[in-house]
Amino acid sequence: MEKSNIKRKIAILGSTGSIGTQALEVVRQHPDKFEVSVLTAYSNSSLLKQQAIEFKPNTVVIVEDKTYEALSAELWELGIKTYTGESALCDAVQIEEIDIVLTALVGFAGLKPTIAAIEAKKPIALANKETLVVAGQLITHLATENSVPILPVDSEHSAIFQCLIGEFHNPIEKIYLTASGGPFRGWSEDELKTVSPSAALKHPNWEMGAKITIDSATLMNKGLEVIEAKWLFNLNEDQIDVIVHPESILHSIVQFKDGSMKAQMGLPDMKLPIQYALAYPDRIDSSFPRFDFLQYPKLHFEKADGETFMNLNLAYEALSMKGTAACALNAANEVTNQAFRDHQISFLDIAKINQTVLHESTSCMSPSLEDYLEADQEARSLAKTQIR
Ligand code: NAD
Ligand code: MG
Repeated sequence: MEKSNIKRKIAILGSTGSIGTQALEVVRQHPDKFEVSVLTAYSNSSLLKQQAIEFKPNTVVIVEDKTYEALSAELWELGIKTYTGESALCDAVQIEEIDIVLTALVGFAGLKPTIAAIEAKKPIALANKETLVVAGQLITHLATENSVPILPVDSEHSAIFQCLIGEFHNPIEKIYLTASGGPFRGWSEDELKTVSPSAALKHPNWEMGAKITIDSATLMNKGLEVIEAKWLFNLNEDQIDVIVHPESILHSIVQFKDGSMKAQMGLPDMKLPIQYALAYPDRIDSSFPRFDFLQYPKLHFEKADGETFMNLNLAYEALSMKGTAACALNAANEVTNQAFRDHQISFLDIAKINQTVLHESTSCMSPSLEDYLEADQEARSLAKTQIR
C-alpha cells in the first residue's frame, strides 16, 4: 500500500469484540491517521450505537435483526445508514469507500465478507484466521488475482510478517510460531478430564473473545495458526514449527536458509499488531508500555504437547489431507467449542469429536466456494450427531 498523509478509511467487521474494540482504541489515539467508514456487529446493538455516535461511520451493520429498527431510527438522525442481515456485511464492504477492511469477526462468518472485500479490491487486515483455515487456497488465489494485500493481525503472523520486511526475496527455511501453552500447559490427560469452561476461559497472557480463549486452552488456536501461516507465507507443513513460550514475549521467529533467525518481540498487547496492520508500511507512535529486559531475566521455551492437546496434531493432519479437510476441522471445532462452553461436552471431547469429524467428512480436492460451504455444513452436522 502507498504511504500517504490522507486519513485511512477503515471498515471494522466485528467492532464490538475484543479485536474490534482494541482497533477503535488505536483509531481513538490517532484521529489524524484513521477514520471509520463501516462498523458491524452480530447483536450487541447498544455498544455498536455508542461506537457509531463516537466514530461517525457512514454505514453500520447489525447482523441480527431484533434491534435493527430502533438502532436504524436513532442512527438515521445522525446521518448514518444502518443495515441488517448477513449479506449486508458483503454489501457494506463493497459499496463504501474504504482503504482497509479489518476482519475482526469470529469464525466461518468471516469467509463471505472477506471474499466480497477482496473482489472489491479492498486491502484486508486479517484477524479472522478461520477464513484462511477454511478456504486458504481460494482466498490466497483471489487476493493474488485482485492484487489485494492480506496484512496479518494475529500476533504470531504479524511477527513473521515484520521479520520478513526487506527479506521478501529470501526463501524461508522455517518458521517457529510461539504458543503460550494456555492455562493448562503441562497438564496430563487425566488432569484435563474435569476442566470447566470457566477455568478454560482464564488465559494467562491475553484477554480475548470466548471462542479463541477456549481454542487457546485446547491448542486448537495454535493449530488454526499453523494453517493460517501456511497460506499467508506459502509454506509446507514441515516448515512450520510450534514452540511453547509461556511469557509470550517473542511473538514468532523466522529462520532463513543461512540459519539466521529473526524474531519480533514486545509485551503481549494486540493493539500493536492491529496498529501495525492498519498503518502499514509505516510505524506510528504508541503509548503502549515498553518491554523491560530486567523484568524478564529468563524467557522459557518448551516442546508443544500435540498428543495430550490433540487439536494441534489434528491441524497438521488436516493440512496434509489438503482440500476441504481444514474446513471440516474448523467447522467441527466451532461446534464443539460452543458445546463445551454450553456444558454439553467435556474438555477432552472437543478434540475427540473434532478428530472423528475430520476422519468422517467427505473431502473435496479442488474446492470452489460452494464446496467449502457444503463441507462446513456436513462437518457441523457430523459434530452435532457426535454431541448427541
Ligand atoms: P469476539 O468474540 O470478542 O468478537 C467477535 C465480533 O464478531 C463481535 O463484534 C461480534 O458481534 C461479531 N460476530 C460474532 N459472530 C458473528 C457473525 N456470525 N456474523 C457477524 N459478526 C459476528 O472475538 P475476538 O476475540 O475479537 O476475535 C475475532 C477474530 O480475531 C477471531 O477470528 C479470532 O480468532 C481473531 N483473533 C483474536 C485475537 C484476540 O486477542 N482477541 C487475537 C488474534 C486473533
Ligand atoms: Mg495468535
